[in-house]
Amino acid sequence: MELNRIARLAGGGGGKVLLYVLDGLGGLPREPGGPTELEAARTPHLDELARAGTCGLHDPVAPGITPGSGPGHLALFGYDPLVYETGRGVLEALGIEFPLGPGDIAVRANFCTLDARGRVADRRAGRIPCAEAAPLAARLNAIELDGARCTVRHVKEHRFVLVLHPEAPAGDAVNDTDPGRPGLPIRAPVARNAASEPTARLLAAWLEAAAERLAGRTQANMALLRGVSSQPGWPRFPDVFGMRAAAAAAYPMYRGVARLVGMDARTVPAGAPPLVDALKARFADYDFFFLHFKPPDKAGEDGDFDRKVAAIEEADAIVPDLVDAGPDVILVTGDHSTPSVMSSHSWHPVPFLLHGPPARSDDATTFGETACRAGAHGRVRGCDLMRLAMASAGRLAKFGA
Ligand code: ZN
Repeated sequence: MELNRIARLAGGGGGKVLLYVLDGLGGLPREPGGPTELEAARTPHLDELARAGTCGLHDPVAPGITPGSGPGHLALFGYDPLVYETGRGVLEALGIEFPLGPGDIAVRANFCTLDARGRVADRRAGRIPCAEAAPLAARLNAIELDGARCTVRHVKEHRFVLVLHPEAPAGDAVNDTDPGRPGLPIRAPVARNAASEPTARLLAAWLEAAAERLAGRTQANMALLRGVSSQPGWPRFPDVFGMRAAAAAAYPMYRGVARLVGMDARTVPAGAPPLVDALKARFADYDFFFLHFKPPDKAGEDGDFDRKVAAIEEADAIVPDLVDAGPDVILVTGDHSTPSVMSSHSWHPVPFLLHGPPARSDDATTFGETACRAGAHGRVRGCDLMRLAMASAGRLAKFGA
């Protein structure tokens, strides 16, 4: 459903909504027929919310599609990730909380190694350590161009972000320069439309200057550019949903995605208890709260079933305090599945629970993948969840007479 249609139905009045995201929540059994991480975890408080509320499964992007955390969160914020696609440059810049402005062009870049003939020998420059890469990034940050300011910020190992601030508006439709495999020369940055030609010229000039500054090195002597993109002019979350929105996350990437849609995002220390403090401190001044809890995803990515179970139990322990803060509607779910048996994100649908009036009774009396399959909501798209939460909070007017 289009966001401007939702904006017409969202009047501004109604209850307060809490979205509690357990990153990578969905899982798989360790052995066939066994419980998933969420089902193995002792979660009395989440079970209680599931029993009193209504449950279901959601596909963050679409059935069979494995989502990144960026699109997964956009879906939970009500933005269809198939419509609202962000470039990888923008996501990388958000990940380090780079303050992207309108018109800025962000590029996901990395050091690579060219051989003596100028062909790519190593697309990742041996993943050089941060201690070696950071000073090189600082060297590239000193590059000056005619027509644009440019900024380089080191991210991790061989990766960095390049941001152009062009003097005149310029498009972001420029191809990647990564040839995709070793043994080939770097591709020139090529514009896919006329408006992006100035950007392609700026990037070509930047690459020339970068080569000069890295000359003489046997490793990390050039850079590859990908995901050229600028900040999208999307409708803002507070305008669409009529709610003042506050976000709390320990990791920069999630504050970045929240800010991208116009939420007021703050940093919190890692762990579950600081999320309670963040909710209580700002409860009076906002209508919507996004709390992000990372550990289940990290444990899943590490292939550690037991640690993911423990992380989910840690998330459960603060639920009474979250309820105590007084939100009218509580939505608990994940941005995607991260089964520890796969050590990666996966396409499996994600369990969710919606606690708020008025609820039909359903067969989900605990919070888990199998129980949620028997929930009242069935299987929905991730971007449907905001509307369900809004309706429960009494925030959506009737559609048509
Ligand atoms: Zn995630």
